[in-house]
Amino acid sequence: RRAAALSGSAGPGRTSDGHAVALLANIGDVEDAVAAAAQDVEGVGLFRTEFVFLSSSSAPTVEEQAEIYRRVLAPFGSRRVVVRTLDAGADKPLAFADLGPEENPALGRRGLRLSAERPDLLDAQLQALAIATRETGADVRVMAPMVATAEEADWFARRVREHGLPKAGVMVEVPGAALRSRHVLAGMDFASIGTNDLSQYAMAADRMQGALSELLDPWQPAVLDLVAATCAGGAATGTPVGVCGEAAGDPLLALVLVGLGVSSLSMAPSKVPMVRLALSRHALTDCQRIATAVLGARTAAAARAVCLEEAVAEV
Ligand code: PEP
Ligand code: MG
Repeated sequence: RRAAALSGSAGPGRTSDGHAVALLANIGDVEDAVAAAAQDVEGVGLFRTEFVFLSSSSAPTVEEQAEIYRRVLAPFGSRRVVVRTLDAGADKPLAFADLGPEENPALGRRGLRLSAERPDLLDAQLQALAIATRETGADVRVMAPMVATAEEADWFARRVREHGLPKAGVMVEVPGAALRSRHVLAGMDFASIGTNDLSQYAMAADRMQGALSELLDPWQPAVLDLVAATCAGGAATGTPVGVCGEAAGDPLLALVLVGLGVSSLSMAPSKVPMVRLALSRHALTDCQRIATAVLGARTAAAARAVCLEEAVAEV
C-alpha cells in the first residue's frame, strides 16, 4: 500500500495497471510557464495565449510574439506544449481584436470565428510560433478555440501546416462539435475538451454567472454525455482526446474522464498531485466501470455520489 502511494507521487501519470494518462499544466504567461516547468508535469496542455495580450492596445508584432513564445517553450525542453491560438472575445476581450459590440458575445464572433475574420492576426501568431519552435526545438502542438464544424477544423489545420507547424488540434467546447466529433476530428492530430465552455453551451448557462453554478457543474449528465461522444469520435478516428477545462483537476472526475477514453488531463499545476494519486489507485477497467455507472446517473449530484461510492469501494 505504501509502495502504491509512493508510486502515485511522482513521474508520468498512469493508472494502477500502467495505462498512461499525461498530466499537463494550464498556463497563461511566461511566469506561469517557468513555474509549471519546475513542477512534476509532463508539459503544457493549454497555453491561453490571449492572456498575454489582455492589456495590449495594439496587435503584437511577429517578433514580439516570437520572443514571448521562446520564453514559454524553452523551460519545457522536450516536453509537449499545447498552444491555443488567440481565444479573443466574450469573457476575454482583446482591444486590438475588437469587432464591435455584439448582443450576445458568448455566441458571437469569438475564438476561431474571430481568426477567420482577422486571418492577419492568426497568421502572425502562427508565424511567431513557427519561429519559436524552430529555435527551441520544442514539441509544439497548436490548437484552435471554439471550433463548431468540420470545415472550421480543416481550415485551421491547413493554415497551421502551411506555417510548417507539425501538429494541429481543436478544442471541443461547442456541443455541435462534440456530437459530430468523428467528422470534426478526422484529419486533426489531437483534440482537447474545454469543459468550461462545453458546460456553458450545453446547459445554456452563462459561465460568468455565479448564480448558475449548479447548471455549470461539469458533472451534469448532459456534459458527460458530450464528453463520451467526443471520446467515441476520437476512438473512431484514432485521434487522442484530452481535457483542459476545470473538470480535469477534479480527482474523482478524472477517473470518469479516463474511463471514457481521455488520454491527457491539463489543469492548474497545484492540482496535478491529487489527480496523479487518484489515477494510481485505480486500474483502467475500474475507471471504465466507474464511467459506465456515472453515465447512468440522472443528476449531477447522483453522478458524483455514484463515482465516489465506486471509487472508494475499489481503493
Ligand atoms: C474551456 O472552455 O474549458 C477552456 C479550457 O478554455 P477557457 O476556460 O479559456 O475558455
Ligand atoms: Mg473555452
